[in-house]
Amino acid sequence: MTIGRLCMASFIVMVVSSSGLHLSWAKQQITIAAEAEPLTSPAIDAQQPAALPEKPTPPEKRTTKVPILVYHHIRLIYDGSPGLRRMTVTAEVFGQQMKFLQDSGYHVITFSELADFFEQGRELPTLPVLITFDDGWVTQYENALPFLAKYHFLATFFVVTNYIGHRGFISWPQLQTLLTEGMKIGSHSRSHPRLAKIADPALLWDQIYNSKTILESQLEVPVAEFAYPYGSYNAAATEMVKAAGYRVGRGCCSGVAHTSTDVFALRAVMVPNDLTKFQKYLEAR
Ligand SMILES: [Zn+2]
Repeated sequence: MTIGRLCMASFIVMVVSSSGLHLSWAKQQITIAAEAEPLTSPAIDAQQPAALPEKPTPPEKRTTKVPILVYHHIRLIYDGSPGLRRMTVTAEVFGQQMKFLQDSGYHVITFSELADFFEQGRELPTLPVLITFDDGWVTQYENALPFLAKYHFLATFFVVTNYIGHRGFISWPQLQTLLTEGMKIGSHSRSHPRLAKIADPALLWDQIYNSKTILESQLEVPVAEFAYPYGSYNAAATEMVKAAGYRVGRGCCSGVAHTSTDVFALRAVMVPNDLTKFQKYLEAR
């Protein structure tokens, strides 16, 4: 028994000789003392000088050139409006482009490898390249996946959660198949707005965070990549992508050079329906 308890015990004897009312009060004090006691000593110990945790060293600013390829429609025919054609690569040309990557010694990497390069200093393979698909068009599943499987290339499919399962778009079971094939699923928002034009933080959060949780709960995998619809973002959007728990944010159409500070605003190139232009994009390293 500690000195503190001994003192309380003596106090009881004293009050018992007085009156019942005081005894009751004294018991209450003993209870408090007994409960408080074990907390007191460790608390004092915890105040002993302890080594302060080392301040994490900020990673050095790194730079690299990695073409992040952006595809939309992978169609069997090249027709329709100029807008549609601009976003179309035929299955034939897509196959040629994948073969070119293979024959030229390119290494297809994932966004997590790129994030590891910036955050943990891991090295990238020679001639790294990233393959991405936007919007979740079903033609990507039908016409691109066979080539990706043929060359064992991993790609990230950025899907718009409100579109999933609608006519012309990839369905939930197809997304599961993509995961089984080793592909990555990223978020491309809930309804594909221009995020830089959304002023209400709650609406922005819904597009960025809720799309992530919808995908994660349906697919039961972590979703760590976000692509800004139309490549439209501002500081509020990039900060929110970071706060929502993503590892990277991908913009569009502004080159192949990246730095550590761009992890939530990565540049990308929209791939044309042309093998020669495709080669030039890659060589712009
Ligand atoms: Zn899009």
